[in-house]
Amino acid sequence: MKTALTIAGSDSGGGAGIQADLKTFSALGVFGMSAITAITAQNTVEVRSVQNIDLDMISDQIAAVFDDIGVDAVKIGMLGTSAIIKTVAKSLIKYKPEHVVLDPVMVSKGGHHLLERNAVAELNEMLLPLSSLVTPNIPEAEILSSRKINSEPDMYKACRDIMEKGPKAVLIKGGHLDGDPNDLFYDGKQFHLFKGERVETKNVHGTGCTLSSAIAAHLAKGESMLTAIGNAKDYITAAIAESLDIGQGHGPANHFH
Ligand code: PLP
Repeated sequence: MKTALTIAGSDSGGGAGIQADLKTFSALGVFGMSAITAITAQNTVEVRSVQNIDLDMISDQIAAVFDDIGVDAVKIGMLGTSAIIKTVAKSLIKYKPEHVVLDPVMVSKGGHHLLERNAVAELNEMLLPLSSLVTPNIPEAEILSSRKINSEPDMYKACRDIMEKGPKAVLIKGGHLDGDPNDLFYDGKQFHLFKGERVETKNVHGTGCTLSSAIAAHLAKGESMLTAIGNAKDYITAAIAESLDIGQGHGPANHFH
């Protein structure tokens, strides 16, 4: 059985974070494991409060999983603070997982800051160089690249800027731009545009989490990076097309499709 570990925050509402990641791993036939970095009290409307987990507890969770079960791919989501980023980076340096998909979570769709504003430097310096793939949306790519992104040509420039921080590859998700949600991949050698078709729905909570964990699951199964991203994009497109209208706010992606 292939295994995947998510290092991320818990969403009590079950739509994003650890819960979305584990649902995705299961749906894709990979054994899911978790190292929880923060607990959020959250629903489809808002993040009400956040409690970060102690640093030793975070590294103990990661070590417990690596020391015994083994990890074919890691997905990283919400990290909260620069101290948590450093702790996770130390664990990755120790265990050297083959595949690390980094979703650089910064702000929730409702506007709640899930990463301290001053922690972006650590994200850039400590975690991007350890990542097989970093998957920013447009606002996150603007922060990582220090560049305004208004169009698809800007995405190409931002990809080059982000690659200079040392990841093996980058996937900028174009969903925040007008038009169809095309995602741009770059690994320093080739660009690949993954074309998408916009699904009109407000129920898009946890879609970033789901895409990055689906990529990690497909990498765990031994697929190449481009195949894994293509298959993960198909998964999230179907999960959004059949997303769930539950709660009063943004409903979640549907993992039963
Ligand atoms: N809560 C947690 C714990 C997350 O990891 C994330 C996203 O990455 C979110 C909330 C944000 O979800 P969304 O912006 O899709 O509503």
